[in-house]
Amino acid sequence: MIIVMKPHAKNESIEKIVRLIESRGCDAHISKGKEVTIIGVVGDKSRLSDQNLEIFEDVEKIVAVTESYKLANKKFHPEPTLVKVKDVTIGGGNLVIISGPCAVESREQLLSTAHAIKKAGAHILRGGAYKPRTSPYAFQGLEEEGLKYMKEASEETGLPVICEVTSQNAIEAAVKYVDMLQIGARNMQNFYLLKEAGKSGLPVLLKRGLSATIDEWLNASEYIIAEGNPNVVLCERGIRTFETATRNTLDISAVPVIKEKSHLPIIVDPSHASGVRAYVKPLAMSAVAAGADGLMIETHPNPEVALSDGPQSLTFEQFCELTEAVRPLAALVGKSI
Ligand code: PEP
Ligand code: MN
Repeated sequence: MIIVMKPHAKNESIEKIVRLIESRGCDAHISKGKEVTIIGVVGDKSRLSDQNLEIFEDVEKIVAVTESYKLANKKFHPEPTLVKVKDVTIGGGNLVIISGPCAVESREQLLSTAHAIKKAGAHILRGGAYKPRTSPYAFQGLEEEGLKYMKEASEETGLPVICEVTSQNAIEAAVKYVDMLQIGARNMQNFYLLKEAGKSGLPVLLKRGLSATIDEWLNASEYIIAEGNPNVVLCERGIRTFETATRNTLDISAVPVIKEKSHLPIIVDPSHASGVRAYVKPLAMSAVAAGADGLMIETHPNPEVALSDGPQSLTFEQFCELTEAVRPLAALVGKSI
């Protein structure tokens, strides 16, 4: 349930309602717009059923929120959320490009990638140090050694860094070295991990699960926000369908749907969505045209010898072509890059 206050409602009126909500064991989340304040109620709203809130002073109307996610819901928070990753802001009028290798393989590989993507205009460096591989025999990541290279690359280039975490141990290590945590598709409904990421204090990139509905994805984001961490960015990375020509199917409609249902920023990862290098640029362009707040693109100094996701990784030259291709589109949809 949300309580929409009249324009320029008095502070005393807002405080009175908040006190009542809290006295009944529910939480009140206030969202102050330029003129209108909205109070969102989280908890068992039947505890307020004896109160006719509509007749309280300065109340405009009461709106029922039927979706199970509340804090991620646009009805609770009509203004878009801006997520700061050091000095980079995701959301609002920006198009943020995150790039780097699927896996951190060596110091040289990561540093050369960091310099190349920065030169091409990327804003954040990615790199996997804990790899959730389909096969247990595939390269599993350099773990803490990889995180150290991430920090070094960040210090050398000034780029903030993001790394996927797959366990509580990984979170404990990652918070020492990186600026943003990534929860991968395979862990989107690992609710324990989501709560730990919420408690970490770092912004979180939450990838959509392989077969997750948008409703399930937003509920997953709710787990992070409910820990007091509102800095969540969603990432559409393709879903499982009957189609086999691509690794996954990019659900481009997730962009406008999320924009309608949530205030959280959404970025698109055409690398994992397609699994095919040649399709990454056109899909990136479609994501920008659809209104995505950013892109995540895998790059590698020599994709042919990459230890993971080589077929979808771009060379530095191809990454440059991609950033040049999306630049005019960003301008067209009113985003600065
Ligand atoms: C990744 O970003 O390297 C990754 C494993 O992605 P996803 O979780 O989307 O498969
Ligand atoms: Mn990958």
